Amino acid sequence: MTIRNPATGEIAGTLTPTSLFEIDAAVARARAAQPAWAALGLDARAALVKGAIESLKSHGAEMAALVCAEMGKPLEEAIGEASYSTDGLAQEIDEVVEALRPEVLEDEKTSTRLLFDALGVAAAITPWNFPILMPSQSVVPALIAGNTVVLKPSEVSPLSADVWARCLMAVLPANVLQIVHGDGLQGSELVRSAVDLIIFTGSRATGASIMREAANGLKRLILELGGKDPLIVLDDADITAAAAFAVRNSFRNAGQVCVSTERIYVADKVADAFTAAVVEGARALKQGDGALAATQVGPMASARQKKVVMDQLRAAIADGATCLFGECDGETASDGNFIRPTVLVGVTHAMSIMRDETFGPVASIMRVKSDDEAVALANDTPYGLGAAVFGSAERATRVADQLTAGMVGINRGCGGASGSPWVGARQSGHGFHSGKYGHRQFAQVRSVSRAR
Ligand code: NAD
Repeated sequence: MTIRNPATGEIAGTLTPTSLFEIDAAVARARAAQPAWAALGLDARAALVKGAIESLKSHGAEMAALVCAEMGKPLEEAIGEASYSTDGLAQEIDEVVEALRPEVLEDEKTSTRLLFDALGVAAAITPWNFPILMPSQSVVPALIAGNTVVLKPSEVSPLSADVWARCLMAVLPANVLQIVHGDGLQGSELVRSAVDLIIFTGSRATGASIMREAANGLKRLILELGGKDPLIVLDDADITAAAAFAVRNSFRNAGQVCVSTERIYVADKVADAFTAAVVEGARALKQGDGALAATQVGPMASARQKKVVMDQLRAAIADGATCLFGECDGETASDGNFIRPTVLVGVTHAMSIMRDETFGPVASIMRVKSDDEAVALANDTPYGLGAAVFGSAERATRVADQLTAGMVGINRGCGGASGSPWVGARQSGHGFHSGKYGHRQFAQVRSVSRAR
């Protein structure tokens, strides 16, 4: 596997793909290692995983540089991602431990202990857009719950995940964590293998195919899938703040974030001022190689992803959308893997750009006549990951409470307070992670009862 920097075309690194025959053998080794790992107990397992933190920190700069080189993320954002999975790891581990401690329930007659046991062997299959964070959020709770894990990172950005996993593997007992490399072939082989739990983050289409295959062994699933997140701007919103959020959340990581703003519904009364501010914000962004200090927006991670976005953009323009800034020429496009931050108006729900996940730097703005129309349009999607509403507190809360999304932000992004789950509703997820209830999905709950 030769991994190229999507900004420059230079080779970022190489890795050997795992032979398909080797995958069953890796799962068998994980199976053999699992009982002893589980028998260590919750606190000992957590202590062993924490033992990797110093090594992860010392590899933080290397991992951030690799993220920047392998998928084009601006270096500052890559450093933030690495730090989340190194400096932030101790707190994450403590939260998982607390979630998995036995819990006692009692009524007048019965005392019940809820125990959280390992499920067995877990497969963790991750996407390219957060190459360290996604493995970390999938693997760490699974390990602490007493599972052994076989990780397969994305073939687009496996280099930083390889460094991350090797830091852990160096401090864990043999075969408690293993890493395999490759694309969908290795991924589907892992899904078919004798694993008990599949932790998948990626596209809805791949999630659906994993679910079909997993039905054969009734394997447990945690699927974190794509989104088509709406942003609603009410007519009493702080327009400067709403536009700043729209720019940040549409163009961060070149739009390659599962909770990017993908659709904007803005009240007629404030639409002109809001749209002008979004265009100004897009114009001000510096685009280029993520390794350069000034860069705020990098390239698409791959030519394949650029094609997805350009096809949607061109179809929208051909069907009557107006491009105010960015890739407005239906014929040509920026060089290489780059797509300029682009602002569209005059879009409709008949267009793929308002229906399908774009995963690119496009702000698509639609005018609405009422709060009810905004809610109806925002909910007109099979997805349900994040959403945001900008407006006065009371009205924005009323609108937010009607949205069919797993995570909603009011006058801010959708991420919750520490301890909140990361959860997609509808076809954006099946199972979820983080927070007490998310951590518990990596374990089998067992209730043991006696008379009081
Ligand atoms: P993808 O579905 O193409 O690939 C994800 C992973 O699955 C990769 O490792 C890939 O090799 C593997 N894979 C591909 N086909 C497979 C198969 N048939 N069986 C098993 N594994 C297979 O997704 P992507 O393009 O890498 O990532 C982008 C997607 O991930 C977007 O839809 C994005 O919204 C989503 N995502 C969601 C979240 C979330 O928290 N909900 C977070 C990050 C990304």
